[in-house]
Amino acid sequence: MTTTQITIKEPIILSEIAICEKYNVTPAQLDKASRQIDMSNGAIFYQVSSQTTDEIYEVRHNGHNFTCTCKAGKVGVPCWHIRAAIASACENHQQERLSNYREMLAQEAANARYAELEAQKQAAQASIAGLKAGKNVRKSQPFSLLK
Ligand SMILES: [Zn+2]
Repeated sequence: MTTTQITIKEPIILSEIAICEKYNVTPAQLDKASRQIDMSNGAIFYQVSSQTTDEIYEVRHNGHNFTCTCKAGKVGVPCWHIRAAIASACENHQQERLSNYREMLAQEAANARYAELEAQKQAAQASIAGLKAGKNVRKSQPFSLLK
């Protein structure tokens, strides 16, 4: 049996602060963004709550650029809602990569344990075969009281 050695690379994980710095948002702004799925077409978008009112804006990607339903966004002015949505998406992708990485590590550990048990099983079988062979040798000797 051959085993394939796969080297599992640990994903690069940015801290929340690093993500905030990268996308120029505060942790409080990042927390305002949440990932949503548009049930009509399966598209991913982000809802971002206003920091000053009860309003919730929607940030979407139209294939070319990001749009936001806030006043600034409606006229094409870049707003923090878009940056918060991108930062949140970055954080979500990072979580996915981390959980995939952990799954792969667990799988690797399970494979190693299986190989260990398989080796023990083969050793035990070989030992049993050896004992049986020894028994047969003794059995094959003719029984005699006059030995
Ligand atoms: Zn906006």
